[in-house]
Amino acid sequence: MIRPIVRYGDPLLHRRAEPVAEITSDVQALIDDMIQTMYAAPGIGLAAPQVGVPLRLFVVDLSLGHRADDLIVMVNPEFVVREGMQLEEEGCLSVPGFNSTVARPLRAVLRGWDREGTEHVREGSGLLARAFQHEMDHLDGRLFVDRLRGIKRDHIVRKVQKLRRTGRW
Ligand SMILES: [Zn+2]
Repeated sequence: MIRPIVRYGDPLLHRRAEPVAEITSDVQALIDDMIQTMYAAPGIGLAAPQVGVPLRLFVVDLSLGHRADDLIVMVNPEFVVREGMQLEEEGCLSVPGFNSTVARPLRAVLRGWDREGTEHVREGSGLLARAFQHEMDHLDGRLFVDRLRGIKRDHIVRKVQKLRRTGRW
């Protein structure tokens, strides 16, 4: 089932998510819905708070569903390693129509559970490291906009506020 994606300004996006206590059939159904929602958007990553569920869980697929091996499900992920720095343009399904250059680690290693509850250590560099950090930020209630400074941030916040006022957000 495709779930609606909540947008910047929704309180669920701006608070820290809770750990998943146990991988129940409800959690697996949520994971399946998130994968479907990510592919439908389409996007390369989606965190549970983006579908209004405050749990520490995200899905990433750089291939947009074209290569089965590329799908990564991370439940209760934690950073093992973060190193280096990259500056690239970035967007977010919860902030549609906006993107900006964001500093991210060049390499990131995460530990977390998959859909069946098996623990994995996943290593990402470049775009995958960026996606990992972006989704981890969602679990802590942080969006890429929150990592911007000064006029870049003000520009997006003001435009979003205007869209909200006119019911277009
Ligand atoms: Zn996002």
